[in-house]
Amino acid sequence: MTKTDILSLSFGELSDWLAEAGEPKFRAKQIFTWLHSRKATDFSEMTDLSLSLRTKLSDSFCINRLIVVKRLESAIDNTVKYLYGLSDGSLIESVLMAYKHGDSLCVSSQVGCKMGCNFCASTIAGFVRNLTPGEMLGQIYEAERDSGRTVSSLVLMGIGEPLDNYDNVLKFLRLLSAPQGRGMSLRHVTLSTCGLVPMIDRLAEEGLGLTLSVSLHAADDASRSRIMPVNRKYSIAELLGACRRYFDTTGRRITFEYAVIDGVNGTREQARLLAKQLEGLPCHINLIPVNPVRERNYHTKRDTVYSFQQMLEQEGLNATVRRTLGSDINAACGQLRREAQRERGEDIADSDSNGCRNGPG
Ligand code: SAH
Repeated sequence: MTKTDILSLSFGELSDWLAEAGEPKFRAKQIFTWLHSRKATDFSEMTDLSLSLRTKLSDSFCINRLIVVKRLESAIDNTVKYLYGLSDGSLIESVLMAYKHGDSLCVSSQVGCKMGCNFCASTIAGFVRNLTPGEMLGQIYEAERDSGRTVSSLVLMGIGEPLDNYDNVLKFLRLLSAPQGRGMSLRHVTLSTCGLVPMIDRLAEEGLGLTLSVSLHAADDASRSRIMPVNRKYSIAELLGACRRYFDTTGRRITFEYAVIDGVNGTREQARLLAKQLEGLPCHINLIPVNPVRERNYHTKRDTVYSFQQMLEQEGLNATVRRTLGSDINAACGQLRREAQRERGEDIADSDSNGCRNGPG
């Protein structure tokens, strides 16, 4: 029988379940701590619970685990890239990166992606399904178990569009920051979106305090629609309108991601246009040399990126070139999963080892 993944249960849902099972309320805090602070992998570890409660828990729930299918460690900079297998055999990726301020994990939010950005490896094989809150937490817990390191900040920049899996991502963020569990401040979280305007407006109202990162990648609608189909639905003007509202509501400065692609978006004209459109909006531009994806013919010379940075600065914009981490292990978004798909076909890891069902509830 498949059981529900207890990692996807909110504190409130766990408390309700305990009340129904005739257990005292304070057990919720104990169980939450076991799951989210101590990262228990089995109910038998929860030795301060009665044996009968442990049995009831394991009759109803499982503690889902991700399987490390592949692990690539950079010889240059301590970056570790994980290819994880989920209980239905799907594959996702996370990347653990070392910064001066601590270790950061790049987390996936979906298996595949619907957004169709045509420079991105994550979208090529299409969309499979949303990740559950427990599967997003699992990426952190498994990386910490495997590496012995502590994840102190997160970027939702892995496979998938987080705002296209809004409810699960929100539940994940609330679980992550719950004071009864891990209690991570959402100030240490960056959520990256390709620009789903209504969802940006919704996010602004949640009071989370996270950093919003918007994948802009072009300054005019024709160029942006060419590389990002989402732009045909929400134009740059609409997107930047939502960004302004986001800043007005949250007071949080927006980050714009801009992957410079030779012949597409690195011209002086684009720099001027960008400056005009971003006028008065407190923001930071993160320039990335486009990462070549095997199926696509996009590339960048690093010099082009630096000269575009200069052009932006001359226009009065705040722009930096993102440091490349894990360049020896193919650490860009979705590439490891693509490789595995190519090597092994779609029926990859049959990893249904713990009888966990994918959806919560
Ligand atoms: N769906 C979200 C988050 C996932 S992608 C988003 O679109 O923001 C994380 C970032 O990597 C995005 O800015 C995305 O546009 C960028 N990206 C994807 N493929 C890339 C590539 N080949 N080179 C450079 N950046 C890429």
